[in-house]
Amino acid sequence: MSVPDSPTPISSSGHAQTEVGNYFVSNYPPYSFWDPGQVPSALDALEQEAPKDYPLGLYFHIPFCRKRCHFCYFRVYTDKNAAEINAYIDAGIREIQMYGEKPYLKGRIPKFIYFGGGTPSYLSVTQLKNLTDRMKAVFPWDEAEEVAFECEPGTLTEKKLDQIRSLGVTRLSLGVENFDDRILELNGRAHRSGEIERSYAHARKIGFPQINIDLIAGMIDETDENWQQCVAKAISLQPDCVTIYQMEIPYNTTIYKEMRKNGKVTAPVADWQTKRRWVSEAFDAFVSAGYTITSAYTVVKDPERTKFVYRDALWGGADMLGTGVASFGHIAGIHVQNEHDIGAYLNRVTDGDLPIHRAYSIDREEGLIREFILQLKLGSADMDYFSKKFETDIADLFAKPIEYLQNEGFLSFDGSKIMLSRDGLLQVDRLLHEFFLKEHQNARYA
Ligand code: SF4
Repeated sequence: MSVPDSPTPISSSGHAQTEVGNYFVSNYPPYSFWDPGQVPSALDALEQEAPKDYPLGLYFHIPFCRKRCHFCYFRVYTDKNAAEINAYIDAGIREIQMYGEKPYLKGRIPKFIYFGGGTPSYLSVTQLKNLTDRMKAVFPWDEAEEVAFECEPGTLTEKKLDQIRSLGVTRLSLGVENFDDRILELNGRAHRSGEIERSYAHARKIGFPQINIDLIAGMIDETDENWQQCVAKAISLQPDCVTIYQMEIPYNTTIYKEMRKNGKVTAPVADWQTKRRWVSEAFDAFVSAGYTITSAYTVVKDPERTKFVYRDALWGGADMLGTGVASFGHIAGIHVQNEHDIGAYLNRVTDGDLPIHRAYSIDREEGLIREFILQLKLGSADMDYFSKKFETDIADLFAKPIEYLQNEGFLSFDGSKIMLSRDGLLQVDRLLHEFFLKEHQNARYA
């Protein structure tokens, strides 16, 4: 296995300014290695039986939004009418039905469901009911441990929230990002603080088992004062979970297009050190309010009660059927991604094809690295887990990067467990590259 033995030096300042590029590591190997030539392997795997009781998740992607945020790098559609959205739902159901007939998936009951986007809450009450009734007819989820649903606060009415709750959603995730109307507007968000207040209050009232709030540290015009107010406001709402991202500016964002037009290399947002400080201060404030830090991005009010099944199952190697345009999945050890343009996606499904655009079959070593780096994002990795699951001594395999990162103060290692320091946790995504195979280092995450 060719894990790099001479570590890539990490500057202690850590990318002082925010420049263009993807920072967040969400999978391994990097997407740029996924290849249309590997799609036949994924199709072959679907014709085999799955191992008994292997966990399965179902993801459905809804690519519609009211408005494109300036920092958004997803392919989203803001111009689709009801008929076009209905046609998309029909195609999604057809895709799910095709999967439901495959030997690898037939008769399996999902452990977790995830509606992501885009903006799942952009759909009307009728569209949501139509979509979910038909999904459940293929993959019943009444017994799923978790049904997660992403929302943009301005799309939520009381009636729609009631409907989302009655569909069986257990984890409602609100894309708040900031509580200040001026900052929301400057960053191109469609919602405002009044909509956050109203939707959160009603969601709480009707008893979702878990409400998550997303925040972004370092939006355009963010200041110390505003960030402190955002954190205080989030604490006062007492959500079950808060997810904090550090603002990054990938290539296809409106912010980057403006930068390029004006010949700028530095994005008009805080530098990385400031963003890390803001997250660290937020972590401290949440901990003082009784929350627990459960990953590089999350604090949770009651870790015993509030789990995130989707993340933990996926990062532990579960199967996940990704459906809808551009969605990512992981089936029988093979990464897959669907067609990322809605036209191509609809055409493939209409032709009776599974709309997989590219795939990557991971080998045992890549599977190990994938799980290892994803678990490090939770703050620690247990040697025992990897020696049992992969029969590999992680301490030996990663001896050089572990020593290097330990010397830099990013982690500690007691022989059985690697623990990231606060400093390491706050910049974990840029440290993970140390554990990549040589051929995957310096790859663009796109
Ligand atoms: S709501 Fe989310 S997916 Fe939609 S444009 Fe904004 S960042 Fe992108």
